[in-house]
Amino acid sequence: RALNFNAGPAAMPAEVLQKAEKHWLNIADTGMAVMELSHRSKEYEQIHENAIQGLRKLLSIPSDYEVLFIQGGASLQFSMIPMNFLHENTSGNYVLTGSWSEKALKEAQKIGSTAPIASTKENSYRSIPQLSDINTTENAAYLHITSNNTIYGTQWHTYPTQLHIPLIADMSSDILSKQIDINQFGMIYAGAQKNLGPSGVTVVIIHKDLISQDNDHLPTMLQYKTYANNSSLYNTPPTLAIYLLSLVLEWAEEKGGLQAIEKMNENKAKYLYDAIDESDGFYLGHAEKSRRSMMNVTFNLADKEKEALFLQSASDAGFIGLNGHRSIGGCRASIYNAVPEDHVYKLAQFMKSFKRNS
Ligand code: PLP
Repeated sequence: RALNFNAGPAAMPAEVLQKAEKHWLNIADTGMAVMELSHRSKEYEQIHENAIQGLRKLLSIPSDYEVLFIQGGASLQFSMIPMNFLHENTSGNYVLTGSWSEKALKEAQKIGSTAPIASTKENSYRSIPQLSDINTTENAAYLHITSNNTIYGTQWHTYPTQLHIPLIADMSSDILSKQIDINQFGMIYAGAQKNLGPSGVTVVIIHKDLISQDNDHLPTMLQYKTYANNSSLYNTPPTLAIYLLSLVLEWAEEKGGLQAIEKMNENKAKYLYDAIDESDGFYLGHAEKSRRSMMNVTFNLADKEKEALFLQSASDAGFIGLNGHRSIGGCRASIYNAVPEDHVYKLAQFMKSFKRNS
């Protein structure tokens, strides 16, 4: 398997792909491939239900939350959130911690009134605002955060909980990477293509109280109630993506659940952050130490000329996807759940030997 450090679509667990291959031509003794099954068949319904129950179990999702499968990526949620939750005289409150939260805000601005209530843009998004600096507006309908900033490599390690409004988190790049308390959130959403499976399905975990039955002015496909009232089977769901998601969830359970996965992710991140911190300034981490992401490790080389050489040498040595996001450059190693620990160890060793030989 390639040493794949792409930010997304990301590496998939090899065991999941092998299992899918085994059932590729014949799923559940139907003589059909999963994408050939009717989405109204009992065999597909079982797969769909397995995926929902898999998420419920792994994330300990309480019964007063719905689990929805929506298409359009996390990016469509940037629009659906304000469409469903913003009303006259209310405001969507946003914390800006990187490009994805900026995009979420930009879409909300097209729909209604918004307020960027805290931002770390001034320090190049190296950080996350202090919880004490997050003051929601009086007319806030919700507070939106991006729990892991894929591009800048920062992550919220604790969340604002003293709120009188729902907290909504874009967890696209760190869902399922660690244990979380779902009760702290009104809604969580995540495009699948990092820790959950292939692109094509977006998972939305939403408190039932937030699902309005009273927004028929919105297009049917843009109302959360359409998905909630029809078990996300109002129209044809992305059946293959949901099947693969269900296998990823089984894999995560077999790995020991989120406690074990969190530990693995901490070990993996430590290899790389140690390589940075022990390099005497040869490698410079982008994020403030206390805000570092366990999923996306972002760094530069102090010597810009050597940076291009590092990226080229890493690529020649088989390390894929280490270029930083096109908007900020530098280097980024994305180490989502499916990236094996020994691949990360190899990268840390490569970083150390590149420095030694420079
Ligand atoms: N939010 C975050 C944190 C992301 O990392 C990404 C993609 O990388 C997105 C949103 C956009 O997701 P999608 O491509 O599913 O619309």
